Amino acid sequence: MSSPFPFSTSNSPAVIQHKRSQILEALIKADPRFGAIPVRSVKYSTLQLMLQYYDAVFLGGILGQRYHSIKVTASSRLLSAAGKFIHPKMLTAYPDAEIRMSSDFLFRMKEGPFELNGLTVPTPQEAFLVVFEHELCHAVEFAYYGATGHSSRFMYFAHGVFGHTKHTHELPTIAAETTQKTGISVGSHVSFPYEGQTLSGIVSYLGKSARVMVASPRGNYYMNNDHSKTYLKYQVPVSLLTRIP
Ligand SMILES: [Zn+2]
Repeated sequence: MSSPFPFSTSNSPAVIQHKRSQILEALIKADPRFGAIPVRSVKYSTLQLMLQYYDAVFLGGILGQRYHSIKVTASSRLLSAAGKFIHPKMLTAYPDAEIRMSSDFLFRMKEGPFELNGLTVPTPQEAFLVVFEHELCHAVEFAYYGATGHSSRFMYFAHGVFGHTKHTHELPTIAAETTQKTGISVGSHVSFPYEGQTLSGIVSYLGKSARVMVASPRGNYYMNNDHSKTYLKYQVPVSLLTRIP
């Protein structure tokens, strides 16, 4: 079946894998530290190169033709997603856009395999590329239609060009990693030191730090709509928590 676009939308898994590996090899050659596991740095120029290679190898150069520029950045503050496509409200001729990649996500990944977008990949670098591919599909869809989401039109590109079968990222979130390392999850009973005493309570949120609800008559929070008990809320570094079995 021929593609209505100036690039193939029926790539076989083998072709996709081969092209992705070639791009990764070229990126690591240009920026050897990007090849380390865990990844500790990625150069700005490497991110721009990643866009140029993908545009040339998978997309027939359409991003370079249709956008004035697409800047690729790495952000340590992007925690809610592994990547984000930032586009103008409306499609104009030659718009500027940005693909923001989470360096937090990249630097935290250690041992594969990683499952994302319906694919399983062995290394953090490949996982990063697969996230980038997802954002590229948003850029392609926006360039042609002036809007982008996760519809079947989006999946036509994501699947046809990059072999993605899903658009949900099953990423190792900070909470999942903490649970794996410490056995502590939301709902766990924990104790922690606080101003010379040891307090105990229940974890109600897990991120870079934990929120622990400690029962107290002075508290002004309830849990699970149970109004028989009040709680005080504490923000505690995960490293200070001890799990109470
Ligand atoms: Zn998306």
